[in-house]
Amino acid sequence: MTVASTAADHVRDPERLAALHRTALLDSPADVAFDRLTRLATRILDVPVALVSLVDEERQFFKSCLGLPEPWASARETPLSHSFCQHAVASGQPLVIEDARLHPLVRDNLAIPDLGVVAYAGIPLVTADGYVLGSFCVIDHQPRAWTDWELAVLTDLAASAMTAIERQAAVREAEAAVRARDEFLLSASHDLKTPLATIKGQAQLLRRRASRAANDDVARLVHGIGVIEANAARMAVLIDELLDIARLEIGQEPELRREPADLVALARECAAEHGEKSPRHEVRVEAAVEEVVAPVNRSRVERVLANLLANAVKYSPDGGEVLVTVDRVSDGEAGGWAVLAVRDRGIGIPAADLPRIFEPFFRATNAPTPAGGSGIGLAGAKRIVEQHGGTIAIESREGEGSVFTVRLPLVPRVAAG
Ligand code: ADP
Repeated sequence: MTVASTAADHVRDPERLAALHRTALLDSPADVAFDRLTRLATRILDVPVALVSLVDEERQFFKSCLGLPEPWASARETPLSHSFCQHAVASGQPLVIEDARLHPLVRDNLAIPDLGVVAYAGIPLVTADGYVLGSFCVIDHQPRAWTDWELAVLTDLAASAMTAIERQAAVREAEAAVRARDEFLLSASHDLKTPLATIKGQAQLLRRRASRAANDDVARLVHGIGVIEANAARMAVLIDELLDIARLEIGQEPELRREPADLVALARECAAEHGEKSPRHEVRVEAAVEEVVAPVNRSRVERVLANLLANAVKYSPDGGEVLVTVDRVSDGEAGGWAVLAVRDRGIGIPAADLPRIFEPFFRATNAPTPAGGSGIGLAGAKRIVEQHGGTIAIESREGEGSVFTVRLPLVPRVAAG
């Protein structure tokens, strides 16, 4: 009872199943790379059946199956009631059986009457990080004492099957990364074009107005120039982020020039700017102390804050309060921390997306697509904060809102890692 339930637990281990699903091999079409290996197994070991079997929680799926009778050959799967391979998965060890009809582990297994399994040898298919996906196995319809040489051949074939599985996974990941980059480039060029179009439009308008300059137009001119400035600043931030990414891509960490800056004043300036841009939001600053002076690169920390505020506004489509808090906490000898937090009551982030939220190009699954976003802001913010030797953390609940907390050292520290 205990042995059986432990074995079943191994087979049903959610992390193992996740690793299996990540291969995307379940229910995938037959593939000559795997069929060659099973064919080799049948020829070299002189067996009627060879399988690449992937075991999930209720069945074994055959990525390759040679010599199986119908209906199994066409179905390319059997329920676990017909699976010996599940035992190799459960133990993570080769399973070698001379006569299944006499073997206590499998003598009641339906593979014996239905698939004609008598002798069986299966080598677990184990990923580089230790998850057992299934097994590479051979079957005979009569009793057979497997030799060490035969098991060594089978082990090599299983290793080749595993290499093929991992190579295919690597290719798929690389393709996904290229796709993400293409999508990002599209979205980034879109993001760059929108403010540029506004700049152009405003410039044309101003030119026309200036050409018939009358005094009462001055206020409008000033407003127009303000719009130009704000959009140019937005573009500059985006371009800075793109440049940082491009520099990192070629292995250059952007250099950091620190100067003492009051983060309370910085937060007030940034908040005022974002509050003005979005009248539906009330952007407030609460500072526990009058000033928090920290050695930072002012324009980079400003970018972090601008990013967090822009997100707080963008992802609170119904408006509402965005609260920035600034505080100082002491930390014994280490010199203490400046703590900046940006809290919103917006759409929040689904729990499953939180671990990936600081990854470049990642957007949460609930992010509205037309909101315009590229997924580089938070990755850039994290990089800047860590460059200062600080940390950035998030707490969020979908539908309730988010709090991003940035801690920056009050005494210069070297970046972690
Ligand atoms: P983007 O340009 O997509 O806003 P970011 O890197 O700034 O890129 O943010 C990454 C993702 O994190 C966003 O696409 C969004 O899904 C999520 N996100 C960031 N901030 C918030 C927030 N305050 N509320 C809800 N979701 C957020």
